[in-house]
Amino acid sequence: MMTDIKQSTLLGLALHELTSLVEESGQPQYRAQQLFEAIYRQRVESAEQISTLSQEFRLTLVQKGFSVGLPTVDGKFVSVDGTVRYLMAFADGQSVETVWMPEGDAGEAGDGSEAGNELEKQTSRNWDRATICVSSQVGCAVDCKFCLTGLLGVKRNLTAGEIVGQIVAVLNDQHVAPPRDRVNLVFMGMGEPFLNYDSFIKAVRLLVEGVGIPESRMTVSTAGIVPRIYDLGAEHVRPKLAISLNAPNDELRTRLMPINRKWSLEKLTAAARDFPLRNRERLTFEYVLLDEVNDSEENARELVELIRGVRAKVNLIALNPGPGIPFQTPAQDRVARFQDILIDSGVPTFGRRPRGRDIYAACGQLKRTLEMTA
Ligand code: SF4
Repeated sequence: MMTDIKQSTLLGLALHELTSLVEESGQPQYRAQQLFEAIYRQRVESAEQISTLSQEFRLTLVQKGFSVGLPTVDGKFVSVDGTVRYLMAFADGQSVETVWMPEGDAGEAGDGSEAGNELEKQTSRNWDRATICVSSQVGCAVDCKFCLTGLLGVKRNLTAGEIVGQIVAVLNDQHVAPPRDRVNLVFMGMGEPFLNYDSFIKAVRLLVEGVGIPESRMTVSTAGIVPRIYDLGAEHVRPKLAISLNAPNDELRTRLMPINRKWSLEKLTAAARDFPLRNRERLTFEYVLLDEVNDSEENARELVELIRGVRAKVNLIALNPGPGIPFQTPAQDRVARFQDILIDSGVPTFGRRPRGRDIYAACGQLKRTLEMTA
């Protein structure tokens, strides 16, 4: 199949596009597989590093203006809890943030304390699994009122190569090799993935087939772009679905998430009920708790009714505060009471531990880049 290749970065090209590229360059077809392996599995940083290719073809690629196209790491902030917030810059100067969150017993020992530092020195690795939080757009247009990213507005969509590139750059920096190393991906960084659906889903396929991260270790979160929820359900290869809910009724949700005017809770919960879950899969509802706004006992009971019948779990996130955000973090006992009501009603409910708050890497905090680097 011939494909019109407009981009000059190799990252982001699927195997059939690489096949077109090698054919147009007069090279045998098997070169496409070699390119695919080098870009996604070996994660080379330049075309010159692709040692399986002939010197002549490598030169042709460079002469044609092709580069691998990895983002550059313009900033790196390390939290006391081991979380790393990366500032990734692309060729046009736009940038996004990508967050690395190591987890597990050893990871938690590396807490910046003397004991943690000592353990880090003794072991080559201070975590046993990790999660990368990936951005899908520069900024975000959805305007959730509790989110710092929302204050930015949207600048542009990322390409599939730029989405994959964030992950490859972090894996290279952390010296991690999936599938041997257990890495989870959450598409919950800057942007609404479902407003950049084609690039997002292409990136997912490249990450599964190329980089080697199983789809079962990926979760995409949406603010509720209902038609794309149906599209995701029809995909052959897809991440798990999380819906950022945050309110149990339309009046409150529209106030917190104006997108609710377009896709109401009735439409959203219908899409959730229709979503074709796989064996043992659960949908996730995320709920950011805002003090005295959406965290009352009545809100909890309303939420139970709203999601009744959906095979789902609820992730509760006490607001990560930030400048310009007109809400407060609820006290721990309010969070506990809300959680108890859900659990007592049979809804599996988890409290998400905030990661990297001190470096503005926690949920809804991805936009402090300029302030932190100034
Ligand atoms: S919470 Fe997500 S969808 Fe809402 S404004 Fe922030 S980044 Fe956009």
